[in-house]
Amino acid sequence: MSVYVTKSFMPPKEEYIKYIERIYNNGILTNQGPNVRELSDKLSGYLGVDNFHYVSNGTVALQLALSALDIDGGDVITTPFSYVATTSSILWQRCNPVFVDIEPNNFTIDAAKIESAITPNTRAIMPVHVFGYACDVDAIQKIADKHNLKVIYDGAHAFGARYQGKSLLSYGDISTCSFHATKLFHTVEGGACIVRDAAVSNRLDLQKRFGHNGDNHLALGINAKNSEFHAAMGLANFPYIDHIISERRRASMCYDYALSGCVGRPRAQAGLEYNYAYYPVVFRDESELLRVFGALNRLDIYPRRYFYPSLNNLSYVPGANACPISTDIASRIACLPLYVGMPDATINQIASVVKQNVR
Ligand SMILES: *Cc1c(COP(=O)(O)O)cnc(C)c1O
Repeated sequence: MSVYVTKSFMPPKEEYIKYIERIYNNGILTNQGPNVRELSDKLSGYLGVDNFHYVSNGTVALQLALSALDIDGGDVITTPFSYVATTSSILWQRCNPVFVDIEPNNFTIDAAKIESAITPNTRAIMPVHVFGYACDVDAIQKIADKHNLKVIYDGAHAFGARYQGKSLLSYGDISTCSFHATKLFHTVEGGACIVRDAAVSNRLDLQKRFGHNGDNHLALGINAKNSEFHAAMGLANFPYIDHIISERRRASMCYDYALSGCVGRPRAQAGLEYNYAYYPVVFRDESELLRVFGALNRLDIYPRRYFYPSLNNLSYVPGANACPISTDIASRIACLPLYVGMPDATINQIASVVKQNVR
């Protein structure tokens, strides 16, 4: 059977159906019904955050974050090492991404390089807790305060990770998350915004549902709501969060043991309780990566090049500044398959193919 980079966690069918039956009984399919409300309460409780908004996906969460903070043009400082949605949400909001290179230990934006990229056009900073590794949140907040900039964390990978004793999603003016089927905790499609300031939270709440209360049209909005059916999957998955994280931890440790230092690995910062969202490995160069991929693909095993290309090299972002560290890492990093219930034998098989194909 094919092995992909991940496999969505599926809750027991009866537990999912319980929440679907609720929809059939009350006839409410969307618009902040009981499943969405219950899921929002449970997730905000689990994360220990206020002003939690469940939305339709992690990309629209980023767009809403920009618009709720009134960032409707100008420069947004961001990281080139992420999924394309980080940059595309900035462009879609008619802002200009300004890339700051990453630091080589955990691939998050290099906070020491942010200040020199700030100009009078800079409006916000949008870093990413990539693979669930924490950005230097304290240094970034200090810079933002000094220059009066907003901070939006793309926390698509940060669910379940804790830093300095609290959820990694509790930092910044707004943190976003993704609950896409490929993410650690999923609702098939889905996402969230976690907002620090109550007034911004109210504006975001209005904007996510067309900008009106009944017949009072108060602001320009969009439809970023999610449905009762999506929330049902979230409610069925919710009791398994600890199980999901501990299973991924077990699989990651099995890789660590089997690979025993033959590939590069990120170094997590002190104070991070990691969520084991991904298992990235860094090869010596791109040809080594391609050799390993060829050998694994012949066995019907498909790791992914997360993340490639470095986003400063996108064809539709002309004039982006060079980011040599991100460009280099992106050319030789990949995520190995990781999912709940992954057999040790599959991990050992993948690790031995990797070992046979690296120098
Ligand atoms: C998945 C992802 C997104 C987008 O989330 P969707 O829910 O798929 O829209 C944004 N940023 C990063 C870093 C992601 O990995």
